[in-house]
Amino acid sequence: MTMTALDTEDRTMLNTGLDPSNLKALIGALSATMSAHADELTALDAAIGDGDHGYNMKRGFEALVAEADALSAKPLGEALKAGGMKLVMTVGGASGPLFGTLLMTLGKEMPAVPDRAGFALAFRKAVDAVAARGKSEIGQKTMLDVLYPLADALDAGQPMTTIADVARSAADGTVALVASRGRASFLGERSAGHMDPGSRSMVLITETIVDFLEKNA
Ligand SMILES: [Mg+2]
Repeated sequence: MTMTALDTEDRTMLNTGLDPSNLKALIGALSATMSAHADELTALDAAIGDGDHGYNMKRGFEALVAEADALSAKPLGEALKAGGMKLVMTVGGASGPLFGTLLMTLGKEMPAVPDRAGFALAFRKAVDAVAARGKSEIGQKTMLDVLYPLADALDAGQPMTTIADVARSAADGTVALVASRGRASFLGERSAGHMDPGSRSMVLITETIVDFLEKNA
């Protein structure tokens, strides 16, 4: 596939799939995913954290659904910033500010016409902002262990169809890691053998977005 073909294909996906008229439906799909997996995420967090992650994420995405009309009336960048702010206020815990930072930075950096390269650059800046906010880096059993592989895959121009696989295998990789950041780090070696809940959330979000783009692009 030529670079031009890839650019054209992905521009179509990003513009059509994430255009404001579809944003409301995407928010609904994300909220449904988080509700369906709230118990699973909370069980993961109970194993190595404080057992609130699933319910926190469910609450955050329900808050986005409540604002979906207002969000979808905004340009994409503004919608991401406002949605990120809402997640900071509603998810709480350690991950609220991190998921919020991801969305807010993505919104700030998103080009007016988000082609593949522009989106990839904005996404990497957003991941770097999460790392700075959490004073964390890759390999510490946090959501960064999925976010950086996703950023690399987007930089490399990997097709949309493989992006969810990248996220899933990256999250699988967190199982063996010993946490050195976040509440799970208090467990030391005993944090190994469990998937990082934030990484699992990021897989669920990625799968839902990719599925949505494939159906709506
Ligand atoms: Mg927690």
